[in-house]
Amino acid sequence: MKVLIISDMEGVAGICRWNQVNAGADGYEEGRRLYTEELNAAVRGAFEGGASEVVVMDCHGAGGDRSFNSLIPDALDERCEFVVQHEWTGYTELLETGCDAALLVGQHARAGAERGVLSHTVSSTRWHELRFNGVAVGEVGINAALCGTWGCPVALVSGDDVVCAEAAELLGPALRTVTVKQGLGRFSARHVAPARARGMLETGVMQAVSRLRDAPVYDPGAPCTITVELATPDDADVYRHREGVTLTGPRTVESQAPRWWDAWRRLYL
Ligand SMILES: [Zn+2]
Repeated sequence: MKVLIISDMEGVAGICRWNQVNAGADGYEEGRRLYTEELNAAVRGAFEGGASEVVVMDCHGAGGDRSFNSLIPDALDERCEFVVQHEWTGYTELLETGCDAALLVGQHARAGAERGVLSHTVSSTRWHELRFNGVAVGEVGINAALCGTWGCPVALVSGDDVVCAEAAELLGPALRTVTVKQGLGRFSARHVAPARARGMLETGVMQAVSRLRDAPVYDPGAPCTITVELATPDDADVYRHREGVTLTGPRTVESQAPRWWDAWRRLYL
């Protein structure tokens, strides 16, 4: 059984400030350690649940050469493999060859979410709202749609209580979630101690992977229109001459295609 772990840093227990997730900042090394150890718990749970192959894909844009490259390699569970990709949603090989389950670990709520710890969508300053066929989504929606493109179910989402509720609303009540902190604001949280959060995640993943029957496969719909409301008109200008992307307002761009993946690639990759 092949399992893909799509990981982000903002939703990890113990993390609630930008300085813990931005490369070069004074809290970054602490953040990397918390991130790597929480991921190890998910890896353990996946193998306990019956996985034979576990690949971790870091999706955190830490900045510069640290983007999608924040895990501490020699502290990772030796049984997993990990992907350092050039662009988020760039690595699709495992999904293309058939992946049995995806786990979305360390996720954060979408831009504008009330109490969502380090909430944002793609860009912490430039993207105000993202919609798939009219439905407002965050990065959980993007990751789930990426998996769904190749029929891969999302077996579990972890992060703060806000993103867990957001994910359950989007993917349905059968989705398994693990809440490792309660969001109090964008930069404050009541955390479960990381040592206990790792235990909760390991157990949740083990249960999720061993019972995949109800895990949801997400499809935003076909054809698919992706709409992005940006912060300022100059943010929209960047898309003015991009094929397949239409400016529908001074700060709004739209990409439409028969399938979500094609609409997304035109807009993002
Ligand atoms: Zn991130």
